[in-house]
Amino acid sequence: MLMSSSRKEPSIGSLSAKQVTAIYQALAAAIQPKPELEYGSALDLLVAVVLSAQCTDKAVNKVTAQLWQNVRTPRDYLALGQEGLEHAIRSIGLYRNKAKSILGLCAKLIEDFHGEVPNTREELMKLPGVGRKTASVVLNVWFRQPVIAVDTHIFRVAHRLGLSNAPTADEVSSDLENITPAKYKLDAHHYLLLHGRYTCQARIPKCDQCVLARLCPSRKIFSAEK
Ligand code: SF4
Repeated sequence: MLMSSSRKEPSIGSLSAKQVTAIYQALAAAIQPKPELEYGSALDLLVAVVLSAQCTDKAVNKVTAQLWQNVRTPRDYLALGQEGLEHAIRSIGLYRNKAKSILGLCAKLIEDFHGEVPNTREELMKLPGVGRKTASVVLNVWFRQPVIAVDTHIFRVAHRLGLSNAPTADEVSSDLENITPAKYKLDAHHYLLLHGRYTCQARIPKCDQCVLARLCPSRKIFSAEK
């Protein structure tokens, strides 16, 4: 996935280990690293993450609360079928493609993984509709592995802070996994995601309220725009 920013970003990639640690220290002091998607099993989480592409967690939670009253296993999804699943998730953007992916991954789980969600990136990425980001969220949130999924918020925050200047989400993910101190790696995804969602927002970041303002090379860009 290629992402881009219309603003000129600061020179990137020159942060010291001390600066990177200071960024995570400040985030950890300010943010509770909790997922906002609801889930009760690895399959729930996988389905919720597929549904959340280009959609808010709140909208996904509304749909899954209803869906999961009767649909709990890969076989339940397959029994619902394309039409039934489309109907159940119709309020979500791209619901036809998402229903197709969910049914494809449920069939594959039964066929190759005894109906269980696998716990390696390689296996997860063999499931239809599951890319590196989705696999990383499941590995991090459910299996508690120290990997860092990169969505549009994290991509933006990583660039603004100078944590990575890579042009794709997958490369930013690799950069973050390389430079994030072990102590913060398990929760780094949520620190950066929630910081991007609520403070370092895309159009108008809240630099005046930001706990990273002192450390951020982009602050002067946004101050100059006021
Ligand atoms: S100072 Fe502004 S640009 Fe930098 S991380 Fe904070 S909100 Fe984002």
